[in-house]
Amino acid sequence: MPHHRSRLILWAAVAAVALGFGFPTESRAADAKPPNILFIFSDDHAFQALSAYGEARNLLDTPNLDRIAREGMLFNRCIVPNSICGPSRATILTGKYSHLNGFYNNSNSRFDGSQTTFPKLLNKAGYSTAIFGKWHLRTDPTGFDHWHILPGQGAYYNPPMIKNGKQVKHEGYTTDIITDLTIDWLKNRDRSKPFLVMSQHKAPHREWEPALRHLGHDNDRDYPEPETLFDDYSGRGIAERDQDMTIEKTMTPRDVKLVAPRNLTPEQRKKWDAYYEPRNEKFRQANLSGKDLVRWRYNRYMHDYLGCIKAIDESVGRLLKFLDDEGLAENTIVVYSSDQGFYLGEHGWFDKRWIFEESLRTPLLVRWPGVTEPGSTSDALVSNVDFAETFLDVAGIDVPDAMQGRSLVPLLEGNKPDDWRDSFYYHYYEYPRPHHVRPHYGVVTDRYKLVHFYGPDCDYWELFDLKNDPHELKSVYDDPSYADTRERLTAEVQRLREELKVPETEDPLASGGRRRQPPKKPADKKS
Ligand code: CA
Repeated sequence: MPHHRSRLILWAAVAAVALGFGFPTESRAADAKPPNILFIFSDDHAFQALSAYGEARNLLDTPNLDRIAREGMLFNRCIVPNSICGPSRATILTGKYSHLNGFYNNSNSRFDGSQTTFPKLLNKAGYSTAIFGKWHLRTDPTGFDHWHILPGQGAYYNPPMIKNGKQVKHEGYTTDIITDLTIDWLKNRDRSKPFLVMSQHKAPHREWEPALRHLGHDNDRDYPEPETLFDDYSGRGIAERDQDMTIEKTMTPRDVKLVAPRNLTPEQRKKWDAYYEPRNEKFRQANLSGKDLVRWRYNRYMHDYLGCIKAIDESVGRLLKFLDDEGLAENTIVVYSSDQGFYLGEHGWFDKRWIFEESLRTPLLVRWPGVTEPGSTSDALVSNVDFAETFLDVAGIDVPDAMQGRSLVPLLEGNKPDDWRDSFYYHYYEYPRPHHVRPHYGVVTDRYKLVHFYGPDCDYWELFDLKNDPHELKSVYDDPSYADTRERLTAEVQRLREELKVPETEDPLASGGRRRQPPKKPADKKS
């Protein structure tokens, strides 16, 4: 009998007690209740900025996030199927790739809320469900008893929000507000039911605006630079050379806080200016250019981005403390993840999108008391396409056949199944705007990546060997010594495309910009 079935039966017993059948003791009944799920999610949180991942640059300490890892499992290789915000969220909800859930890009996709999602299934099975914070799927949330979300990307300060369909205003810092709303709902929840609560931050998304209390958190330190800050993109093709996401060319005055956000209160603005203005004045006087200018922007970017992470880490600390104080910690699974990874200057970039490591990998920390061994790690190839099935499995609910991931429960129990995946399909679509990253798809294994870049002006393949080239600087696609690997992975990407039902022709929604009419074929001349 699968373990979740036994949990389900125990819960049925609890329900029977509640209905007056009265057999197990109260303490046994409490143990048998299906676990609550606290899903804490952020937007664009690079694993390089989470100290449990032990990144070499040692950018900041995240003690509360690290606590989840210390008391649970850290996944080293959680990867996303399409590295941008909306598509990642749609994948998490549906357990499906973009081409099946219909949400390809942030530019013109709209989430079809009538489709099956894991919150709907949990809700139907008796869970109280709620979501707070960033939603970013254009249509209203479905499957939640309560929702209180940011419109679109949302604001960092004094955010307008939408509570169950009605506009409401808040004053304060958005990360704190989302946490307050989450805790308030938990305090007032229906205690007869298990809960699923999704607490989803805007932070640390662009433009990386920290809480005012965190301005100057780094004492003006100079941050260690990534080795590839001044990457020249040699060894790779037009897609890598001709993007629009560099610190050098793409960052705006607003990004680097030479311009203040418009929605600060006068009091907030005073604190903002007190930190930024003297430093901005010094910058203007210095009249930097070339590499010095990139370095100045990089350090400003790190101050701001990491400042945003500090507020997330504090929020995680507050939520964990709340679970402790309420006696909920033992029967609540806590999951922390981000919608994708992010570049913190690697390859000269910010943003995400690529099949390359920094954007492909996302943090995943899971604490499940009594099931997951504290301080454990997993190197298995896992993905956020697995989350829906994991939550259903945890709750003892049957997984719909159409879902495309796999439950992580065996891994969380410390057993990696022999037939766990050793390759993963990736597919990015949004082009040309906003960052001019060409569409690409490919296959990822523990060691290699094979990728096909395509589009109106590009059609080429690359192969990267992460063992010999961890920064992914040189394609070995044409290197004869990799011929066997290339053949094997070419077959594997095709196998995965078939297995995952990837259409051979692109959906028109796949293009991020206005799609031009395809050129007309010359009329067939009949001879
Ligand atoms: Ca994102």
